[in-house]
Amino acid sequence: MTADLAVDREALLAAVRDFAEREIAPRVGAYDREERFPVELVREVAGLGWLGAVIDPRYGGLGLDWLTFTQLIEEVSRTCHIIGLAISMPSGLVGAGILRYGTEEQKQRWIAPLVRGESFAGAGVTEPGGGTDVASMTTRCRREGDEYVINGAKAWISMLDTADWFLTFATLDPAKGRDGVCAFVVERDRAGLTTSPYRNKLGFRPLATGDLVLDEVRVPVGNRIGAEGEGYRVAMAAVETGRLSVAARALGLAQASLDASVSYARLRHVLGQEIGRFQLVQSMITDMVVGVEGARQLLYELARDRDAGVARPRRRASLAKMHASDVAMAAATSAVQIHGAYGISEDYPVARYFRDAKVFQIVEGNNQLHRGMVAEYALGYRDPDR
Ligand SMILES: Cc1cc2nc3c(=O)[nH]c(=O)nc-3n(C[C@H](O)[C@H](O)[C@H](O)COP(=O)(O)OP(=O)(O)OC[C@H]3O[C@@H](n4cnc5c(N)ncnc54)[C@H](O)[C@@H]3O)c2cc1C
Repeated sequence: MTADLAVDREALLAAVRDFAEREIAPRVGAYDREERFPVELVREVAGLGWLGAVIDPRYGGLGLDWLTFTQLIEEVSRTCHIIGLAISMPSGLVGAGILRYGTEEQKQRWIAPLVRGESFAGAGVTEPGGGTDVASMTTRCRREGDEYVINGAKAWISMLDTADWFLTFATLDPAKGRDGVCAFVVERDRAGLTTSPYRNKLGFRPLATGDLVLDEVRVPVGNRIGAEGEGYRVAMAAVETGRLSVAARALGLAQASLDASVSYARLRHVLGQEIGRFQLVQSMITDMVVGVEGARQLLYELARDRDAGVARPRRRASLAKMHASDVAMAAATSAVQIHGAYGISEDYPVARYFRDAKVFQIVEGNNQLHRGMVAEYALGYRDPDR
């Protein structure tokens, strides 16, 4: 890394910290409680260029390296990981497949407005019958002239209320497994598309998440991303890139849990001493420090792989995502414990950390899936380069 790059990175992260303290911290409690995606705040973030942090300047991005991008998401997620998610979407769950498999025209048409904050998008992979086994999807598509007709239902789809379009997936023939899957951009205003968000979720509350139903929805051939049958690869590009940002968001939350615990342990007195003096409280702090620092190393190695040009660092992505989310869950649990009764009060942020940490263990590949994959890489049953 050049000295200039290091200076630029530090300056950017200082700006992110400042923005998070001034603009996000005072508002996050309210929009979390109201289950409202903070569109106005995300547009401010777009104005700073951060939605396109790692995206090529040809599509309006800043063209930053993956390590800086990762640290940006980690930093902002210390205050609110939903803003981290917004920053990650154009290059991650929504954009990565389009950036890798889309045409130049498609990237200009769909990615550039996302980067500018002029439009929002969601990604519809999961179905009511299952999210882990993507190849077994039941949503169907058929070609009729210059159009595809799509029928099916997706579940647990985020950005449901704000998305102007969805990157979604359907199969030409379920018997073909992965090779039958096609990827499409489906605009919200297409006839036959309906959405219904779930309310009162445990965590990720500002993110409207719910059902996306496609009933005889017609899209032009130009909305297909990649070739016919290449949709599974488009989905994997999205999900695998998404794992880096999920890990960064979980790590930011874990660091926030540690920071809140240290402050509270110095403030709260029990039996005439700061609770931080109790060795069993110290033990929780120690586990958090070890967890956070270990997760950070795994995550930064993943980012460095991307910077070195490794297109699919799948083993590192599994390690980073699984470990960071497990660390976040453990850290948030301890943070609530250290805060005692106040830990379950929404007046303190640790209650939100606790609710949100659980979700990280489920999304972008559940942690049992990653645990199995990590063992399979170690045992030689799975090829990390395949
Ligand atoms: C807040 C939130 C937002 C989401 N946003 C989106 C979105 O924007 N787009 C989208 O497409 N999806 C989204 N999802 C869905 C998410 O990706 C799925 O929930 C996830 O992939 C798991 O799928 P599932 O819930 O169907 O669980 P299942 O696949 O039914 O798995 C259930 C459980 O079985 C176990 N299990 C499953 N597979 C294995 C395995 N291979 N080895 C061992 N154990 C296993 C695990 O314990 C797992 O948790 C979101 C989910 C949530 C909660």
